[in-house]
Amino acid sequence: MTRLAPLLERNALFAAQHTPGPLARPTSGTLIVTCLDHRVDPALILGLHLAEAPVIRNAGGRITDAVIDDIAFLAFLAGQLFVDRTGGPGSLFEVAVIHHTQCGSGLLADPDFRAQASQATGVPQDILAANAVIDPEATVALDVQRLLDSPRCSPEIIVSGHVYDVETGRVTTVLDAASSVASSQ
Ligand SMILES: [Zn+2]
Repeated sequence: MTRLAPLLERNALFAAQHTPGPLARPTSGTLIVTCLDHRVDPALILGLHLAEAPVIRNAGGRITDAVIDDIAFLAFLAGQLFVDRTGGPGSLFEVAVIHHTQCGSGLLADPDFRAQASQATGVPQDILAANAVIDPEATVALDVQRLLDSPRCSPEIIVSGHVYDVETGRVTTVLDAASSVASSQ
C-alpha cells in the first residue's frame, strides 16, 4: 500500500491523454523559483501547462547557493539548446522569484521554535534564521539582488520578484525584470 495510490490513478488518466514533446525551449520563457508550500503550486496559481516553465522549489522559495547552481546549469543548457537566440539580457529566460504571505518558514523568526528546529534538523540556527520569510516583499527583493549579484548569474537572463497572497490568490510584482548587466551599472 502507498498513499500515492489515488494519485497514481490520476496519473493513469493523465498518461491516457498525454502527448510527449521534445526537450525544447520552455514556451513561457520563464523559470519559476518559489516556496514548496502546497498552497503555492505555480502550475495552479499561474495556470502553467506542461513544458511551459521549469520550477525550482524550496522552503521559502529562497535564492540559495543550490538554487544558483541550478539556474547556472539551466542557463548553460538553454545556451546549448537555444542556438537561434538574439543574445542580450533576457534572451535565455526570465527567472521569476515568488515569495508568499503566511509562509511557514516565518515560524523560524521565533527563537525557541528556531532552536528546536535546529536541534531536530541539524541545520545551524543562523541559516534557519536567514531562510525565514516574514516580510515576503523584503525577502523577495533581497533574493532577486542576491541572484543578480552572483558572478554565476548569466547576463542573458533577467530576474523579477513577486509576492503571492495566499488569502486573495493574487500575485503582485514587487520588482520588474532586470539583468545583472543593468544591476551592476
Ligand atoms: Zn512558504
